[in-house]
Amino acid sequence: MVHCFTYTHEGKPLFFAWDVESGSLHNVDEAAFLVCKNKFGELTDEERQKFDAVSDVEKREIEEELFKLESEGLLNTPETRVDLPFSGEIKAMCLHICHDCNLRCSYCFAKDGTYNTPRDYMSFEVGKAALDFLFENSGNRHNLEVDFFGGEPLMNFDNVKKIVAYGKEKAKSIGKDIKFTLTTNGVLLNDAAIEYLNAEMDNVVISIDGRKEVHDKLRVSPNGKGSYDVALKNAKKFRAVRGDKRYYIRGTFTQNNLDFSVDALTLNDEGFDQISLEPVVLPDESPLAIHESDLEKVYEEYDKLSEEYIKRRKGEKWFNFFHFMIDLKNGPCVAKRLTGCGAGKEYVAVTPTGDIYPCHQFAGGDGKYYMGNVLSGTFDRNIQKTFAGINVYSKEECNKCPAKYYCSGGCAANSYNFNKDLKKPYGLSCKMMRRRLEDSLAIYCIEHGGND
Ligand code: SF4
Ligand code: SF4
Repeated sequence: MVHCFTYTHEGKPLFFAWDVESGSLHNVDEAAFLVCKNKFGELTDEERQKFDAVSDVEKREIEEELFKLESEGLLNTPETRVDLPFSGEIKAMCLHICHDCNLRCSYCFAKDGTYNTPRDYMSFEVGKAALDFLFENSGNRHNLEVDFFGGEPLMNFDNVKKIVAYGKEKAKSIGKDIKFTLTTNGVLLNDAAIEYLNAEMDNVVISIDGRKEVHDKLRVSPNGKGSYDVALKNAKKFRAVRGDKRYYIRGTFTQNNLDFSVDALTLNDEGFDQISLEPVVLPDESPLAIHESDLEKVYEEYDKLSEEYIKRRKGEKWFNFFHFMIDLKNGPCVAKRLTGCGAGKEYVAVTPTGDIYPCHQFAGGDGKYYMGNVLSGTFDRNIQKTFAGINVYSKEECNKCPAKYYCSGGCAANSYNFNKDLKKPYGLSCKMMRRRLEDSLAIYCIEHGGND
């Protein structure tokens, strides 16, 4: 499959042909782009007129070049399918350490951190049983990962500490490695918490949406007061001690801030260099939802952000934007690229009562994919097998998608929530994904100076 696309850099168009299977990116001139797109895609009316204006001699020369690239395995490479073995091993876990929150964000998918359950805190006993479940089911996996999630995890900080201590000691005793991540809204991130998280967490994610007015409209305390000032102050303190260790600031954009490039850059202006900004995922009827009719604006913002991104990365305001990070040379193995996050297969979420779900997004839903409980020792291997069967190969739309090796088939929870079908991707998010991929490829080419 060859995907032809354009990108505007410093006001000038760049033309690309992306060989999806080999991962070869070709930065070509306009005539080659038109010949390529005519051969492998579909020209727009405007492109067709330009294509017709290319001389037959030039077209023939380009065709020869394309043929050469094809014979070298750099263009129109056939798909090589790999086996995706299922071992039943679990390697990662999301611990819902707290089904409660000190904020009431308007777009919270977890219903103010409660997941539609009574407000609840995970006990040490449940956390210990969850980690034991992980260790017992991890088979030959050496590296294990646990993510503390909420609600707000720092509201149950004592148990976070006890569970981390238990996990690290047990991992050491059985010759495994366990890494922890914690996601927080930053409000309770005081000096003691900063010191602890910096020492014990492999990664820390702090939620801030960008501009104060954007953040404070939606990320509010129960009395309606915006949380920006305190979250930003604490996040900056954390950043100052964190050095080169992993962290990132994670924001959300909604209908309220479709000009989200400003929010990403605001976070950078505030001194953060690891930034992610995710589109909100809400039903169409929500006033904050992003719609198909917003896509042109969203694309425009990604393009704007990518141009400023290229500029800033040359100077003192260097930063990483997670959706623009792409590695054409190394990156994850093919199996990982085809299966994505591994929800329900090798990654599960555990609630404060010990219930197991394929991921945090399935907790508090209709219960269809309830997998068992770490206290009772139940675990539904049939559901695990169902999730193991969800990959790029098993999804018709993903098979034909140029983003398949970088998107890995999208989010199963979104597929289920929007289409009631684990194998039918959520279309709006696919369109944004493909635009981000094009921008990422163009950025990669510009930063690496040519074809790859
Ligand atoms: S901080 Fe997170 S869990 Fe709490 S209300 Fe906001 S989005 Fe929900
Ligand atoms: S963008 Fe959509 S269609 Fe493409 S691989 Fe991802 S989920 Fe599948």
